[in-house]
Amino acid sequence: MHGLMMDRPLLISTIAEHAERFHGNREIVSVTMDDPAHRCTIADAMARARRLANALERLGLEHGDRVATIAWNDYRHLETYYGVSGSGRVCHTINPRLFPEQLVFIINHAEDRYIFTDVMFVPLLEKLLPQIPGVEGFVVMTNAANMPETTLPNAVCYEDLIAAESSEYDWPEFDERTASALCYTSGTTGDPKGVLYDHRSTVLHAYAAVAPDTMSLSARDCVLPVVPLFHVNAWGIPYSALMVGAKIVFPGPKMGDGEALYALMESEDVNIALGVPTVWLGLLQYCEQAGKRLDMLDRTIVGGAAVPRVMIEQFRKVHDVQLIQGWGMTEMSPLGTANTPSHGWEELSEEEQIDLGTKAGRGIFGCELRIVDDEGAELPWDGVAYGALQVRGPWICSDYFKLEGSAETHTDDGWFETGDVATIDPQGYMAITDRTKDVIKSGGEWISSIELENTVMAHPGVAEAAVIGVAHPKWTERPLLIVVRAEGAAVESDELLGFFKGKVADWWIPNAVEFVDELPHTATGKVKKIELRRQFADYALAE
Ligand code: AMP
Repeated sequence: MHGLMMDRPLLISTIAEHAERFHGNREIVSVTMDDPAHRCTIADAMARARRLANALERLGLEHGDRVATIAWNDYRHLETYYGVSGSGRVCHTINPRLFPEQLVFIINHAEDRYIFTDVMFVPLLEKLLPQIPGVEGFVVMTNAANMPETTLPNAVCYEDLIAAESSEYDWPEFDERTASALCYTSGTTGDPKGVLYDHRSTVLHAYAAVAPDTMSLSARDCVLPVVPLFHVNAWGIPYSALMVGAKIVFPGPKMGDGEALYALMESEDVNIALGVPTVWLGLLQYCEQAGKRLDMLDRTIVGGAAVPRVMIEQFRKVHDVQLIQGWGMTEMSPLGTANTPSHGWEELSEEEQIDLGTKAGRGIFGCELRIVDDEGAELPWDGVAYGALQVRGPWICSDYFKLEGSAETHTDDGWFETGDVATIDPQGYMAITDRTKDVIKSGGEWISSIELENTVMAHPGVAEAAVIGVAHPKWTERPLLIVVRAEGAAVESDELLGFFKGKVADWWIPNAVEFVDELPHTATGKVKKIELRRQFADYALAE
């Protein structure tokens, strides 16, 4: 027997309507390329999102069509999120830091019909143009006064585009399982893979994100997402912040600038900030040098990479700021765990509390966790046994866009293989101990070790090569190239590092090279990365 409750679809547009009605006068502050201190309200932004939805109609974009963005965090990008997804199209956010070949692959694979871009990425897109013939037009996210000369076809300035439209628009109602957004991840080997979110997963994820033991977001908060809108929808902030009516402060291109971030936090009275460890390192360093304290801040939500203990300590002891570590993935919308205090936490000593804070956290309701051994048998939650971490839940991908199961990332019983290795303690605190996926995460961005290995193997002086991630004080991890020289070859580090130039993005190039006589192998002849990681565990890279 079914219950007798209404079956209202969970749509992103319902967040827009709710936010406008209940939190319409809440502010959105942005640093943009054309205005270093732009202010508007949620009501303004949502009215403009409706104008944009009308514009998309006029451009002939159909429901389900992909509309890409290459842009920093600001109010226009937020409006694009709502205008595109709310009207039934798919908002495809692109990471501008990717190497040109990856950008071309992603744009073509997604079949993007339009690209919304910040002014600063126009030259990049002009260069890519011959390779992305499917893109019909470009919207430059600026006003007429700052619109650049461009060879991009059908290029229109964002402000002109929406000014020509009415703000009268009824958000359409459709199936909540309709695709809403697309984000590619290079987090596994091979080509980037598209994670296709839907309205239902997005709204459920937002409900989970605002809960007290996740981000605890409310109408009294002021949030600074330093995590980019092109990284898993800035961890869902565009949805969760509007759902509760939190003020949002968007840093625009000022993401990596500790001083600029501090100034924004101070002037806007930010009390929650979100980002990967690397950005907080810059902020903490600035505070130390300038003698500033983060008095305005209550808590910071840090994830995307392991959080160093010293960072938790510094936030807490120097600034009286609670650091909440989170773990998740692009494939998980992204939230899986959050490290918030459990019952009895106050009885632990300060040092024990900080130790606990280094773990990735407890599963949030909606994300099931399990760890398994090599045979797929579940391992105990004793804080000691470690195994492959698998997850399941309504905001976790069931497949990748257009891959139809070929990525083989799901178990037969429907769990997603995260590629992380973890322990889970009896209280449910999960800690990441290693990775089975062959990638390096530097400053929150992926580097493919396999691609680096393939590239360097083309050098005649190399017999065999492996790339592993080693700890780095600023970037969390950086690639180390380990090489067995070809017989008789005398190749040195500089030559090998120079060999990567122009073949991979500059920031992918390994920081150092170590020469060895041989590499450890498995029985099937694969390089034993785990053993190499162990061998080079204490490797010290120069900063
Ligand atoms: P992404 O899809 O770019 O968000 O990357 C997800 C991956 O980042 C995870 O599978 C982990 O390998 C890593 N990661 C995310 N959060 C953490 C964390 N708190 N500790 C360690 N690794 C993390």
